[in-house]
Amino acid sequence: MAVPSPAYEEQLKAYEGRAATVAGVGKDPVNEPMIRHWCEAMGDTNPAYAGPDAMAPPTMLQVWTMGGLSGHTGRSEAYDELFALLDGAGYTSVVATDCEQEYLRPLRPGDEITFDALIESVSGRKTTKLGTGYFVTTRMDVRAGGELAGTHRFRILKYAPAQRKQRKRTEQPSPKDRTNPKSRRPRPVINRDNAGFWEGVARHQLLIQRCAGCRVLRFPWLPGCNACGCLEWDTVEASGDGTVYSYVVMHHPPFPAFDPPYAVGLVELSEGVRMVSNVVGVPYDKVRIGMPVRLEFQRYDEELELPVFRPGGTGEGGGG
Ligand code: ZN
Repeated sequence: MAVPSPAYEEQLKAYEGRAATVAGVGKDPVNEPMIRHWCEAMGDTNPAYAGPDAMAPPTMLQVWTMGGLSGHTGRSEAYDELFALLDGAGYTSVVATDCEQEYLRPLRPGDEITFDALIESVSGRKTTKLGTGYFVTTRMDVRAGGELAGTHRFRILKYAPAQRKQRKRTEQPSPKDRTNPKSRRPRPVINRDNAGFWEGVARHQLLIQRCAGCRVLRFPWLPGCNACGCLEWDTVEASGDGTVYSYVVMHHPPFPAFDPPYAVGLVELSEGVRMVSNVVGVPYDKVRIGMPVRLEFQRYDEELELPVFRPGGTGEGGGG
């Protein structure tokens, strides 16, 4: 894509601080049926979300502002104008990249929700793997009874898709072609909540988080304990023994880094937590529930090493 003129970028920047939604009103007050449906969908049985003193799960914040198919009143033109400006310059694709929420007070059944949203920032032009474009961050302030209850930041990338090289019809993607970045395994997303896990993998240790409050083990890594809410934790190293708790065989869709069909296992470690991983060293159709497996670390390319499981070991439980 041609480099945009400074005037174009100034036009985009001029949308920073402009309203995206003015005086939006939640279609329903905070209510128990929606809370119950959410908790069922999430499998969240926290008692705080039920009973006479129930509060809504904080992560439901945006739910109370959603306009459904019929949309909202209060939507300003600024957001649509900004999109039109980006579309017009060829940044026609959109992807939601991330969201951040802050909670100031709990929401409880009966709370009437109002909200305002503004375009908080428009980034400079960025090139990502998807293509080149602009990140647009919107901040929504959610109020209950007029009092600020939480903030929801939502970031999208409006971009012009990267040109794909045309593949000849006869050319097949080769999973063995490790030098081609497109046929390499996807990289793990490493962040402050799971960095310790990947540091362990680099040392060939499979680390399980242990809550400092109630000592419950958890996996995958999370910032807090689902059992007691405690934010302090340490780790224990998995012995490496496990059993296949469940599995699926992937046939479709094909993806250059993988060679279907292959088995994806949900492995129950002897410590009791479960993890999703590959079951290697056995034909995909010979993987069975209850099969004892043993941890090993498999290198996929110069950067990527992953914990995988191979039949064998002392696996407890068995059955299946
Ligand atoms: Zn705990």
